[in-house]
Amino acid sequence: MIKKFIRKILGVKDAHSNSEPEILGPEQHGIDPKMVSSNAVRVTSSLQEAGFEAFVVGGAVRDLLLGVKPKDFDIATNATPEQVKKLFRRAFIIGRRFQIVHVMFGQDLLEVTTFRGTATDNAPKDEHGRVLRDNTFGTQAEDAERRDFTINAMYYNPATQQVLDYHGGMRDMRAKLLRIIGQPETRYREDPVRMLRVVRFAAKLKFDIEPTTAAPISVMAPLINNVPAARVFDEMLKLLMSGSALACLLQLRKAGLHHGLLPLLDVVLEQPLGFRFVTLALEATDKRIASGKTVSPGFLFASLLWHQVLEKWNAYQASGEFPIPALHLAADEVLESQTEKLALQRKIGSDMRDIWAMQPRFERRNGKNPYKLLEHVRFRAGYDFLLLRCSSGEIEQELGDWWSAFYEADETIRAEMVTAISSGGAAGKRKRPPRRGTRLEEGGEAADQADHAAEHGGDDDFDGDDLHAEGEGEYGAAAAPKRRRRGPRRKRGEGGGPDTAPTTPTID
Ligand code: ATP
Ligand code: MG
Repeated sequence: MIKKFIRKILGVKDAHSNSEPEILGPEQHGIDPKMVSSNAVRVTSSLQEAGFEAFVVGGAVRDLLLGVKPKDFDIATNATPEQVKKLFRRAFIIGRRFQIVHVMFGQDLLEVTTFRGTATDNAPKDEHGRVLRDNTFGTQAEDAERRDFTINAMYYNPATQQVLDYHGGMRDMRAKLLRIIGQPETRYREDPVRMLRVVRFAAKLKFDIEPTTAAPISVMAPLINNVPAARVFDEMLKLLMSGSALACLLQLRKAGLHHGLLPLLDVVLEQPLGFRFVTLALEATDKRIASGKTVSPGFLFASLLWHQVLEKWNAYQASGEFPIPALHLAADEVLESQTEKLALQRKIGSDMRDIWAMQPRFERRNGKNPYKLLEHVRFRAGYDFLLLRCSSGEIEQELGDWWSAFYEADETIRAEMVTAISSGGAAGKRKRPPRRGTRLEEGGEAADQADHAAEHGGDDDFDGDDLHAEGEGEYGAAAAPKRRRRGPRRKRGEGGGPDTAPTTPTID
């Protein structure tokens, strides 16, 4: 009682259970109503006119309070999915575990969710306490209590311009703090993905993680292993496309969330050779997002895993495999090891293969080769990837510069450039690497033969069509089937130890 009284005097709101919200007017929260999408207002006002409660909720309110234009608007209501559906012309009930309604206006999609109850005590759980199904509707206070962080549990009513704050979200917003609602261990146990979420928000918003919220993470991190791969992948994608990908990954490491958890993160954060490459790739991604450009997940994952591919590619070549088949084998292995834990979508896997497979083709600048490559549907991605390899010091800058010039040149200049290459001009044809060791610039007749065989004679065409994966749902891709090797493996020269790319600092 006394504690409660003192808290009240100090204006400290309890982050645990709160049935009455603090109601904040426009002068207290400062939300600019012009930042609220007109479609979100259409949905809340239609629901309210039909006699229901309706609010903008979650990340959109958080962003509005920060003065950032939300990328999407979620709506929470006390209307059931059926009642919501009846009110809108294009509304679809989706979801099996917990039904929500997608309301569409042209391309704009709004997610409308009925207030969820907190009956998690009786909800079915796995042996680690992860909630498997939870379908109960509830009151707004219950809905607030089951949201993840205090700053994500505020409700904005566009009609009254009031914010309803159940868990001291406004206070934490001002203090730039991420505080979990309820008992941290219990909440992470119910849904371990919350550990990834807190890290993403901390990095993206530049907020601190409140100490009791942060404390259990490093100990409880292994619980993420029990989460279905598709969900982890979803969250990873959000993390990487948050506009603060690099900061997020560094924060994951700081929180102790990277060790032995996700094979992808192990690779990214602990590979000494690829760190510079990954840093450049993520910086470029963050820059693209900041300037409103799209980012292809295929390109992103191809970058994150490139040095793993490179290492295996070199090893296969060292053991006598020709460059192109060696690259295919390396790609197979890497994709397979990742699909076991991360449900890589089929399309993403096929984009990754395309980007990787294009790389040796950039080395072949004679005859029709560069023209053919230019026509590749994903040339631009492959070329951007090549430039990253140059910037990271993995290959000569000259190759990237040549392609930049070729890409921009007119037909006459292009022809001159190719002639210069073919006649062993300034840039040289393809440099013949020392016999020992393996290099990307591999050339020579034997390699040409292998390249030719791979391109024309078999199934090593990297078209990704054999990456079929039967699975449920969007990310339900099962492990990719193993690629068949065509014909006997041919030996080439003597295998030496794999070359290493320039050593760059590791962050571990
Ligand atoms: P952003 O969309 O910018 O990534 P967000 O907070 O909107 O951030 P969403 O995944 O869109 O994140 O979720 C919307 C809201 O749903 C959150 O703000 C939070 O209130 C609630 N929520 C989402 N995931 C969880 C979870 N795992 N546990 C509890 N509440 C969650
Ligand atoms: Mg959101």
